[in-house]
Amino acid sequence: MDTLNSGITRDAMANYCQECGKELISPNAEICPNCGVRLKEIVINRRSPVIAVVLSFFIWGLGQVYNGQFGKGIAYFVIGVLCVASLMILIGFLLVPLWWLIGMVDAYVSAKRINAGEDASKFINV
Ligand SMILES: [Zn+2]
Repeated sequence: MDTLNSGITRDAMANYCQECGKELISPNAEICPNCGVRLKEIVINRRSPVIAVVLSFFIWGLGQVYNGQFGKGIAYFVIGVLCVASLMILIGFLLVPLWWLIGMVDAYVSAKRINAGEDASKFINV
């Protein structure tokens, strides 16, 4: 579990329904009694931004796949391969580290947005 998002966010999630904002009787409630949304699923789907970054550090797109963004992860990998190929025409020496950095930043920011229930569907989240 990541420790970066503990505190206010987790407490708020535990005691109030994310969907309707109604206070929950039990912090372990699986379903909100007011609006019926599944609460456990939200917790289970949490992503660790740190793990996402580490995965993207080793393989392009892996952090995105870990975040549940499969198509985006594959696209990141393909672009990464193209960047490596462009080493032959020298521009790759700029593109490889740039795309590597973008991949890690996106994995981190996307994981945080997914955890917060925010939109992380942009191709590059920074
Ligand atoms: Zn609710």
